[in-house]
Amino acid sequence: MIVIGSGIAGAATAYHLARRGAEVVVVDSERPGMATAAGAGIVSPWTSRRSGAEYRLAARAAAYYPELVARLAEDGQRDTSYEVIGGMVVSADEDELADARRRAETRAQREPTAGEVRRLDPAQARELFPPLAPELGAVHVSGAARVDGRRFREALLAAAAVRGAEHRTGRAELTGRGARVDGDPLDADAVVVAAGAWSTELLAPLIDLEVSPQRGQISHFELPGIDTTRWPVVLPVSSHYLLAFPGSRVVAGATRETGSGFDHRVTAAGQREVLEHALAVAPGLADATLLETRVGFRPASADGAPLLGPVPGHPRLLLATGFGPAGLNIAPYAGSLVAALALGEEPAIAVDEFGPGRFATR
Ligand SMILES: Cc1cc2nc3c(=O)[nH]c(=O)nc-3n(C[C@H](O)[C@H](O)[C@H](O)COP(=O)(O)OP(=O)(O)OC[C@H]3O[C@@H](n4cnc5c(N)ncnc54)[C@H](O)[C@@H]3O)c2cc1C
Repeated sequence: MIVIGSGIAGAATAYHLARRGAEVVVVDSERPGMATAAGAGIVSPWTSRRSGAEYRLAARAAAYYPELVARLAEDGQRDTSYEVIGGMVVSADEDELADARRRAETRAQREPTAGEVRRLDPAQARELFPPLAPELGAVHVSGAARVDGRRFREALLAAAAVRGAEHRTGRAELTGRGARVDGDPLDADAVVVAAGAWSTELLAPLIDLEVSPQRGQISHFELPGIDTTRWPVVLPVSSHYLLAFPGSRVVAGATRETGSGFDHRVTAAGQREVLEHALAVAPGLADATLLETRVGFRPASADGAPLLGPVPGHPRLLLATGFGPAGLNIAPYAGSLVAALALGEEPAIAVDEFGPGRFATR
């Protein structure tokens, strides 16, 4: 089996294939702007506005994380960074908070992984996340988790290697019998394309794939001397958010720049947008050190849902892409589903709704 791309999607697919005993080569061309290396790392589908099949997939994927972490530990990988830390939807508007509470409570009744839902007044919210603006109340969801995409990807790749997978650096192209990597032919029973926002160009000879890069700029801050280890994820009612990691680190993101192409730069307007939102929600960050701004290209599909499964007319060529803003949540589980399909097995849940055929125009 060949897996093209070793972001979170390719790494998860390769690991699940290798764990099932398949011979796997995972290839990556190390393009600047890998989404996985920039992703914030929020796993909290119950507070999102996602609905229908996509929500159910994200919720199932969130529930799968602890199981996957345990499997990785069996394969010697204990440094995954995954941690259930809780999350807060924050707002100064009572109606918005009531809405968020209703949504989270309804979902938590069906999904035990969501944990407990409770309303916090502004003082209680600031106790958990001290830089927060004093007027913001919160709905706290105890099951929300964070993950460092870089570390989780490395853990998956290391565990895949323990199970015999080979990781190559190089640019892959598709061939009738598998792929060519920097000119070298590689034969395979099946190829999984997990090339993120670059999947469209890879598949261009076969189909028009409606996946395009959506640039995200995201900033990392340090609060010297402050222990941020247990701070929850902060989710305002917008696409911007804050989360903390151990090491006095706070992350604020992110821009969503549709039509960005593969322009891998921190822009003045992008940086301003991130800073304005972060400081409006958490003015206590004003004196933090701005450490770095990361840039990644979300693989955004035309309808916002992932593409999982075989390419129409090419049963041995499968996709694991189109994860948009939710790949760190969804792709570790989606990788197990696509691995099952590549091996001719029944996946744990039906993925028909995510079939790539819905976009294939030739
Ligand atoms: C700023 C930002 C914040 C985010 N926050 C979150 C979040 O909080 N929660 C969440 O769930 N998701 C989040 N996401 C989304 C998530 O990061 C992505 O959906 C996910 O990382 C996509 O992973 P991927 O493996 O599909 O693609 P990528 O990580 O982009 O990996 C694709 C890989 O394919 C390789 N490749 C491409 N072409 C070829 C080729 N021809 N040959 C070989 N290799 C090739 C590339 O080099 C790259 O390494 C965020 C994304 C961004 C940018």
